[in-house]
Amino acid sequence: MSGEVRVWADYERDVHESCDVVVVGSGPAGAVVAYEVAASGKDVVLVEEGPPFTPDDFVLDGSLSMARTMREGGLRSTRGGFFMPTMQAIALGGGSLVNSAICVRSPDFTLDAWCERYDLKRTTRADLDPHYQAIEDFLGIAPTPDDVQGPRNLLFRDGCTRLGFSSEPIARNVRGCRGSGECFTGCRARAKQSVDISYVPAAVEKGARVLTSVQVQRVLSSGRRAIGIEGRIVAPFTGATSFRVRVDAKVVVLAAGCMATPVLLQKSDDLANGSGQVGANLQFHPGVALMGVFPERTHPQFGATQGYHSLHFVRQGFKLETLWAPPGVLAVRLPGFGFDLKQNLARFPYAAIWDAIGSCNRSLGRVRARRSTLDPALTYALHPEDVKLLGEAMWVLAQIFFAAGATSVLPGVHRMPDEMFSLAEAEVLRTGDLRASDLTCGGNHAFSTTRMHGDPQQGVVDELGRCHDMDNLYVVDTGILPRSPSVNPMLTAMALAHRSAAEITLRT
Ligand SMILES: Cc1cc2nc3c(=O)[nH]c(=O)nc-3n(C[C@H](O)[C@H](O)[C@H](O)COP(=O)(O)OP(=O)(O)OC[C@H]3O[C@@H](n4cnc5c(N)ncnc54)[C@H](O)[C@@H]3O)c2cc1C
Ligand code: SF4
Repeated sequence: MSGEVRVWADYERDVHESCDVVVVGSGPAGAVVAYEVAASGKDVVLVEEGPPFTPDDFVLDGSLSMARTMREGGLRSTRGGFFMPTMQAIALGGGSLVNSAICVRSPDFTLDAWCERYDLKRTTRADLDPHYQAIEDFLGIAPTPDDVQGPRNLLFRDGCTRLGFSSEPIARNVRGCRGSGECFTGCRARAKQSVDISYVPAAVEKGARVLTSVQVQRVLSSGRRAIGIEGRIVAPFTGATSFRVRVDAKVVVLAAGCMATPVLLQKSDDLANGSGQVGANLQFHPGVALMGVFPERTHPQFGATQGYHSLHFVRQGFKLETLWAPPGVLAVRLPGFGFDLKQNLARFPYAAIWDAIGSCNRSLGRVRARRSTLDPALTYALHPEDVKLLGEAMWVLAQIFFAAGATSVLPGVHRMPDEMFSLAEAEVLRTGDLRASDLTCGGNHAFSTTRMHGDPQQGVVDELGRCHDMDNLYVVDTGILPRSPSVNPMLTAMALAHRSAAEITLRT
């Protein structure tokens, strides 16, 4: 039995559906649950606020692409302490449509720390590995081959090798990647196995009904039981609302992302918040990036978007990666105005940009609902020790650049030289009086706003994603990670969702 995908133009009146399991949000976590539960024979409705995108919809213009695929046009940011842009997609497939497809299992020491600190008994390496494996097999996740790396990724490898730092080709959910470096604006080659072209179609094949352009506004409940969701049809890109939507279900699964799920719970009369932890503990992997300039052309527009990384310093708290995005997006890190900026832009053909993401477990924030919108109010502060950590990471990146043959690095750090021509000059990144406000950070990995905890007083969900306060309400997005996964979060969120799906199937 095959299901269907409904889009905005299909709706002509109010919608009222009923099913076994309704899943809110079609990102990596929600799509896994929709597929696994539908494959078990249950009747599934997957609800998504964004529209589906096809290769014809993808544009290389970074600003236009962000305006169409990202919430708040890609201009969402934290406030209160630290101003940090953070992007969440609004699209069938969620973040997987626009992300770099990096898939890494969290290291042993991270899972051990989770179990120890958050009173978890069944989230060890041995518990999660079969779930990681299932996702990797389904999506064909494999290391990026050399022939699509392009010079900027291989220079990173060479720099690491010269310094004795480990580095490896990044494992990604792609099939037949051409190394076009366009992951951020959508893969026109349809090589990236974003969940809109992998898990969601598989779920539909198993009978799931997918309602796109539906903004869920409330979870309906009666005592300890969730009974469904209600919302509105929203037009793509304008957000104009029209018909009412209601889905009655035996089980409700929230996978709206770690910014939207807490808002939904708060707007549903503060549902599942006996612990007071809904929206608290917001964490990011703040990302810093350096541009290195090389004597020869690097042709940075060619090569897998993020093809190489180093896990050498992960235990110390940061992960190093290569990076590419539309030049207009990367340009925010360049110094200068007018002619000076133009001159720096002209150096892109000789440049490589590498980033570091920090496991900033000491830096916390909060998601709060606002009155007349579902867009969250975000506060976040970067802890001084985490500022130091990011300074250390930038120093290591500078070392790799010079070891790879760069003639200078542009750190994009306020109160520091715009350009550094030697290691001696760059050491100030580590030794200088760095403040949070000096950094140009992005935080696209976000988590922990509905964290799992064995103790119902200290967390929102249990190890299987079920809300402590409810019998049949689950959360499966990155909000449930108890703290930083140390590496890119998507694969871990999908593995946890895979595990929750088995539990949901059993209980439905
Ligand atoms: C540019 C970028 C690059 C990244 N690169 C990587 C990477 O390479 N590897 C990696 O591991 N991570 C990466 N990430 C992070 C990764 O994409 C996210 O961690 C991941 O997508 C989170 O999955 P999720 O299912 O929790 O939520 P999301 O992907 O955010 O999915 C949530 C879905 O719910 C929908 N939704 C929200 N509210 C509602 C509502 N009220 N009603 C209906 N639907 C709703 C949203 O539209 C969205 O589709 C990147 C992120 C960005 C932005
Ligand atoms: S690098 Fe290009 S071809 Fe490869 S997955 Fe990304 S967008 Fe697709």
